[in-house]
Amino acid sequence: MKEVDVLVIGAGPSGATVSALCNKQGLKVLCVDKDKFPRFVIGESLLPACNGILEEAGFLEAVEDHGFQYKNGAAFTWKDKYTYFNFSDKFSQGHGTTFQVQRGEFDKILIDEAKKQGVKVKFNTEVLHVEFKKKSAIVTLKNKKGEEKKVKAQFVLDASGYGRVLPKMLNLEAPSCLPKRKAYFTHIEDKITHPFYDRKKILITTHPKKRGVWFWLIPFSNGRASLGVVGLEDELKVDGIDTSENEKILKHFASEAGYLSEFIKDASWDTPVRELSGYSKNVTKLYGDRFALLGNATEFLDPVFSSGVTLALYSAKLASSVVCKQVKGERFDWDEEYVKPLMLAVDTFRIYVEGWYSEIFQDVIYAKKSNPNIERMISSILAGYAWDTNNPYVGKKNRLKVLAELCEK
Ligand code: FAD
Repeated sequence: MKEVDVLVIGAGPSGATVSALCNKQGLKVLCVDKDKFPRFVIGESLLPACNGILEEAGFLEAVEDHGFQYKNGAAFTWKDKYTYFNFSDKFSQGHGTTFQVQRGEFDKILIDEAKKQGVKVKFNTEVLHVEFKKKSAIVTLKNKKGEEKKVKAQFVLDASGYGRVLPKMLNLEAPSCLPKRKAYFTHIEDKITHPFYDRKKILITTHPKKRGVWFWLIPFSNGRASLGVVGLEDELKVDGIDTSENEKILKHFASEAGYLSEFIKDASWDTPVRELSGYSKNVTKLYGDRFALLGNATEFLDPVFSSGVTLALYSAKLASSVVCKQVKGERFDWDEEYVKPLMLAVDTFRIYVEGWYSEIFQDVIYAKKSNPNIERMISSILAGYAWDTNNPYVGKKNRLKVLAELCEK
């Protein structure tokens, strides 16, 4: 039976990053993915905080060289309001710009770079089962031909995203703190010529009447863009349109969306509209004796602030350091070194996501009356630095409430 130090389930951003970082620290890593890359995944707008971690993993240069759309901030519209945050105008140290990426291409770049660095990668290889022993784990893999193979690993890192291999297998699933929402999304040839439109920013649009319904418009560098609408299932029902008529639903809502509908009025809708629902997830624990969960296999909140890939990369960075200590027989503490810092970042985003849907954070964004210092602190969080404990707006729910009250005056 083949033996490795660490078996990583999934070669998405969290899997590729943790594999590279463990490999850099001398561990023998095998990363397997059930798919062949490139494959489609939603989640295309990165945050600047990603770039530092991509750099540590040795991926940033390849990402920069690819020619993805440069991103320097986030713009928000609601009715006649238009406001934006420039990420380089931020409180925390670190990169102030990033990219909007076609995930098929982006994810392939990361795992190809990890491979070049020495990580063993197997595509078309699904993890069927993991049997945990006292000092190892026996992982059953199945290839496309249906052949099964067992690998012995000292530690298993579950980066299987929406596959949620270990949460399902070990019964670790927990209800999300957020209600079940749905997204309809597609790629369009955007043909945007409007002078007001800024391709360097993600555009988040609040529906004029239903403030819980919002849209993303994520421009790519090739004249195309990702477009999606998000809301509670009931909020996205339209009289006379069946819920399975994805394109009609997305077009219906987009036509009601003020600036957004103006921007994309000439777009070519050349790609089927997909739907995804119930993507907010949670787990009862993040690690065990011989495993840890990363990225979307942990808790996933909501796409509104594009935090998914950032948290996936941050979990990979934190986990790589603890797993290396454990495998090398050094002192380690998963609670202090993994759970605490990761949950600080998740909980910070939770405050702003919940504040978005309760509308208090929308009020702050659209009023935009805050002073420049506060704006820099909020900008830092929107840029992904949700773990910077020097920022008074990190992890503190009451600060957002006070800010919303100030904006009301
Ligand atoms: P993934 O990228 O999902 O990778 C997991 C990999 O595991 C896959 O390649 C899969 O094939 C593999 N796998 C699964 N099961 C198995 C198995 N049994 N054996 C082997 N391999 C397996 N995030 C952002 O940062 N920006 C955004 O703009 C954004 N928009 C979003 C919009 C929507 C509607 C949703 C739902 C999410 C969005 N996200 C966004 C979140 C983003 O999609 C995820 O956070 C991100 O992809 C997580 O990366 P990951 O590496 O954890 O998992």
